[in-house]
Order: sequence, then C-alpha cells, then structure tokens
Amino acid sequence: MPNPNRDEAARVLLRDVFGFTEFLKGQEAVVGRLLAGRSVLAIFPTGAGKSLCYQLPALMLDGLTLVISPLIALMKDQLDFLAARSIPAARLDSSLDRETTLGVYDALNNGRLKLLFIAPERLNNERFTRSLERHNISLLAIDEAHCISEWGHNFRPDYLKIAQLAKDLKVERVLCLTATATPKVAQDVCDEFRVAGDDLVHTGFYRPNLRPAVTPTDGEQRDAVLLSRLAKRRRGPTIVYVTLQRTAERVAEALIDAGYPARAYHAGLENDQRSAIQDAFMASGDMIVVATIAFGMGVDKSNIRYVYHYNLPKSLESYSQEIGRAGRDGLESVCEMLVCRDDVVVLENFSYGDTPTAEAVREFVEDVFGRGDQFVVPIHELSQRHDMRILVVKTLLTYLELDGVIRSTGAFYSSVKFQPQKGSKEMLARFDARRAEFLRQVFRQAKKGKTWFALDIDATAAAISSPRERIMAAIGYLEEQGDLIVQASGLRDAYRVLKMLPDRRQLAESLMERFWRREQLDIARVRNVVELAEQPGCLTRHMLAYFGESRDDCGHCSRCAGHPRPGRGATDRAPDARPPDG
Ligand code: ADP
Ligand code: MG
Repeated sequence: MPNPNRDEAARVLLRDVFGFTEFLKGQEAVVGRLLAGRSVLAIFPTGAGKSLCYQLPALMLDGLTLVISPLIALMKDQLDFLAARSIPAARLDSSLDRETTLGVYDALNNGRLKLLFIAPERLNNERFTRSLERHNISLLAIDEAHCISEWGHNFRPDYLKIAQLAKDLKVERVLCLTATATPKVAQDVCDEFRVAGDDLVHTGFYRPNLRPAVTPTDGEQRDAVLLSRLAKRRRGPTIVYVTLQRTAERVAEALIDAGYPARAYHAGLENDQRSAIQDAFMASGDMIVVATIAFGMGVDKSNIRYVYHYNLPKSLESYSQEIGRAGRDGLESVCEMLVCRDDVVVLENFSYGDTPTAEAVREFVEDVFGRGDQFVVPIHELSQRHDMRILVVKTLLTYLELDGVIRSTGAFYSSVKFQPQKGSKEMLARFDARRAEFLRQVFRQAKKGKTWFALDIDATAAAISSPRERIMAAIGYLEEQGDLIVQASGLRDAYRVLKMLPDRRQLAESLMERFWRREQLDIARVRNVVELAEQPGCLTRHMLAYFGESRDDCGHCSRCAGHPRPGRGATDRAPDARPPDG
C-alpha cells in the first residue's frame, strides 16, 4: 500500500496548503489508506484532527468529496478554514438564503467544488440526491459515524440511509469518523460501509494531562461541594455540566451570588444569547459556564482547565466527550464528577420518555398500513395523531424500512410556487419543440395568484400524464437557470409497502420490542456511569476498557490518588483535587 510518490505529495500538501509541519497521530495512516482506494473508519478523540483526514485527500482525488455532518455550526468554521487556504468548498443547509443556495448548486454543477458539506437531513431532499447522481463522488466522509449504529448511544434514523446512498451514488471510498465508539459500535459501522478490519485506525483515548476524579455527595451538599472546589483552586476556564435547564439557571445564580463570573447555558436560551455566552467564554480566562449538554459541540477552546459534572452524565460515551473538552493544550486539567444517586432516577426517566406506548404503536401500524400499497405521510401529522415525538415516528418508519416491510421512495414537495423572471416565450426559446410543449402543458396547470403561480405536482402529473419526477426536474432546471424563483412547500415522505403482513399485531409487538431493547440499553448506560464511580479501581483504566482499550493504572486519577469511592461505607470526605499548574 505505501506509495512513495503519493505519500510525498500528501506531505507537500500538508505543508504548503494546510501549513502544518507534521501529521498528527493516525492522520497519515488514514490518508494513505484512502488514497489507495480503501474505505476507513477513523476513531480519534475530539480535537485530534479528524477533518484533515478528508480535507487533504479531497485535494488529491479527481471528483467531489461529500462530507455529511450533523453539526452545521462546525461546518461554518471549517469553511472559513478552507477558504483561508483557497480550497473550493461549500455547505448546503436550510439556513442559507436562496441566492447562496443557487450559487452552491451552480459551483457544484460546474465542477468547481472540491468539498461539499451537508447535514444528513439533506439526503431526504429529492432534488439534491438527483443532482448528486451527475457527479463523480471520490470520497464520502461521514462525521459522527457512530450515529449509524442502532445500538449506539446516539442513533439517528437519517444516518441509516447513508449506506444506501453510498451504493446508489457509486461512491469510490468512504471515511467514517467518530470520537466515541465501543467495539460493538465500531463493528456495526465497519459492516455497514464494508470497512476491512485492517482499515480501522484507532489512536487511543488516553489523555495523560486529565485528572479524573469522582466525589460522592448527596443532593443537599452538592452546591457546597462545588463551591468549596471553586474556592480552593486556581482560576481557569470552567464548564459545569448539569442535566436540566432549570438546574443550569439555579447553579449559575448560586455561583454569581458567591462572586464567580458564571453564566447559564442551555437550549432554552435565544440563539443570540447563546452565541454571546459562547464568544465570551472563548475569550475569557476564568469564566464558568453552567451548561446542559447543549454546550460544547462547537467549542474549540484549548485551555479549558476544569470540567465538573454537577449531575451524572447519561452514558460513558457522553462523559468521555464532555471531559474530552478539557485540556486540549496538553496542560493539566481537572475533570470531577459529583456522584449523587438521585440523578439515576432522572436519567432513567428520560429513557422511559423516549419509548412510545404499545397502544400508540399498534394504532400507528394500523394507520400506516391502512393507506394502500403506496403511502405518503407528513411526519408531523403522524406525530400529532399518535401523540409521539417526531423522532419516535422517524424511528418507527426506519425500523419498518430496516425490516424490509416498507421502502422510502424519497421525500418530496407536494406543491411548488414560482415566479417567472422572464416572459414564457424567451424562457421556452432555448428548448426543442417537444420539451417546450411539455413545459407549456405544465405551466397551463399552474394557478395564478397575486405574484406567484401555484402548482400542485401530483394533480399536474395526473392531468398531463407525466411522471412527477419529470415535472420536478424541469422546474428545478428552470430555477437553476434563473428563469424561475421557486418555493417548494408541503414536504412529504413517500413510502412503498413491500410486504402486506397479515398479522399487524405481531408487527407492532416486534417494533415495541426494539424500543424496549433500546430503553434497556439506555438504562444500562446510566448504570455503566454509576459503575465507573463505584468500582474500586483506576478511573482512567476503567473508562478505556469500556472503549476496548487496555492500559495500566494511570496514577493520576482520584482513585489512584487514594480517594474514597461512592457506595456503601464511603465517607463524604472531599478529595483535594490538585490545582493545575497551567
Ligand atoms: P476533530 O474533528 O478530530 O475534533 P479537528 O479536525 O477539528 O479535530 O482538528 C482540531 C484542530 O487540529 C484544528 O484546529 C486543526 O486545524 C488542527 N490540526 C489538524 N491537523 C493538524 C496537523 N497535522 N498539525 C497541526 N494541527 C492540526
Ligand atoms: Mg470534527
């Protein structure tokens, strides 16, 4: 596999285009495999340089590199990074205005883009996937690839469609990236994308500069324990993680009352408030953000000195990501978890809340299969009718797809509105007679409003006996040419029923079993956290073992330093977490 010329070319690009003198651990192994045409799973901790693993090959491969990432905010930072190096890249997401979107399509169609970033939801967009078919996709990079595993801690139904897409688009090679994968999840990802065992590149999670600590406490003492920690330590950028929004508010207030520069951060705040807090934190040397898990995704701050878990994290996967934000600069940083048994109940209730009732699932199945062999569903309508969260509806539909009972035939818009930008004569002049006639027929079906024409796609398809795909393609083409301004509406997901199962009750039951199994797994994850806290050994070693890595005792966690563990007989004597040197 080593190819001296290619490897040298990669090093030159690393230096000249990216401005880095050396590859970071694991990067060269990933890049080399990709350039040799193989698919790879890269497991690197957050901040270890996963993005470069596709950014660099993108420049050496002929076609397009398509990057799927759920974190749109992070895409923006990367685009700035790439733009500064004159690398042609763009993102498509629903927040862009029309002009920008058209510009991106234009660059894509003219082959001017090397990298295109999208969120997974975009794969449900009929027009987008169709436009991809015209391109040679050299590399498909999937960020947060653990979301693909149905049994992972962060399953996203949209992710399951990626593997099919990779096949449909005849993608040459795939790069799956994640910072957290247990051996089982890694196996799932490799199976799904046919990554060979040799092509899993794992850099290891061990971080010698982190000082993990667990401290037993009870609900009443928690604030006092936190305050005593803050009083004894050196100042430094700090995150305090809590579970609930109201806890974030309350604890932040308590810290402010005690004279600390603290702010609450959670999903309940306005967007601009949140970005103001994040910006202030980025710039500050001693700010304390008391946050729910909504905080941290886009925070690339290297000198976070303290991460406290005021509440238990919901899994070891979340825990490792959250403490992984500390000490990216390599300096000593404290990660302390306050362990209070009351939290277990709260976390378990979250898991139960994600499971629909058996009755709702039965009704859902009756409803969906009572619609004939093709059905079209507005997901929000199903969600309202059966009183299930949108995510639950999507998950149910995905399960049915996975079982081969239904197949998604794509999301589409039931109607479009358009505004012509020129006269129809001029618009049609560039088409041959047959196509011009087709467009005339389509336009005749449109109803004129004040400033817009409205077109019902299915009604038009029926009226002129033409497939809806052809109509959508024509409208899309005119939009790309700038002849029409188009607004699509009424997003629907369409499915074809592949098998009419005689026993719908049994189907509903088997669906329920999967939800229960997921629920059990979520609950087991909470227990894993408690187990970490209560087992007698080295915290670092125990954590790494969970992710499939074996190591000796670290010598620098609170357990190795001889502090007590929570559980029977444990005292509440607080460990004196050493202040960091930095
Ligand atoms: P991840 O996606 O693994 O969390 P990123 O790709 O965001 O990490 O990279 C983290 C930081 O490391 C970025 O600031 C990036 O520019 C930097 N980086 C990546 N590769 C190198 C390298 N070879 N040398 C120095 N810095 C690098
Ligand atoms: Mg990343």
